[in-house]
Amino acid sequence: MYKMSLMPLFTAEAIQEMVQLLGEKIARNYKFDTIVGVLTGSFVFVSDLCRHFPNKDIKVSFIRASSYGDSTESSGQLKVSLLDELDLKGKKVLLIDDILDTGRTLQKLVDLLKEKGADEVRSCVLLEKRARREVDYKADFVGFSIEDGFVVGYGLDCAGEYRTMPDIWTLESEN
Ligand code: 5GP
Ligand code: MG
Repeated sequence: MYKMSLMPLFTAEAIQEMVQLLGEKIARNYKFDTIVGVLTGSFVFVSDLCRHFPNKDIKVSFIRASSYGDSTESSGQLKVSLLDELDLKGKKVLLIDDILDTGRTLQKLVDLLKEKGADEVRSCVLLEKRARREVDYKADFVGFSIEDGFVVGYGLDCAGEYRTMPDIWTLESEN
């Protein structure tokens, strides 16, 4: 079993400040026309971040990727769905995920979006765990860098729980 850290790792206020900085940086550096969010964990981040791009032409869609099942360890098997629905021919995509860990998810998703005809794919994550990278993949826009540890809240779950909490917390093993 797991318990939450005593204090949030990032408060709702700190997260909003970071989302604003990221939004401004992306708007300055990348002219994209399509947002692709990675369900389920990024749904809160996408909804906050996208409001920093007030351009009526930007389309928003989602794909689903999962490798964790109900645990805090990746199974290593990536399941991707909703890909068939996307029309990305010639699009400049901003791919948004909650957290970059081993890098396997985003590396694979970038390849899949390019196979669907995307002209360019740049990625943005709210969090990254630098020490955990297993493949050579760098996100283009990164919010917070954190140490190893499993985090929840602000869309991120553990076995489906904690997603609606406004702050980000670390989960610690109880034994
Ligand atoms: P990667 O493929 O980079 O190892 O893992 C990326 C995915 O694993 C993320 O999209 C996220 O769903 C999940 N993940 C990785 N680390 C954490 C974490 O600390 N907390 C939660 N809730 N999910 C994580
Ligand atoms: Mg995910």
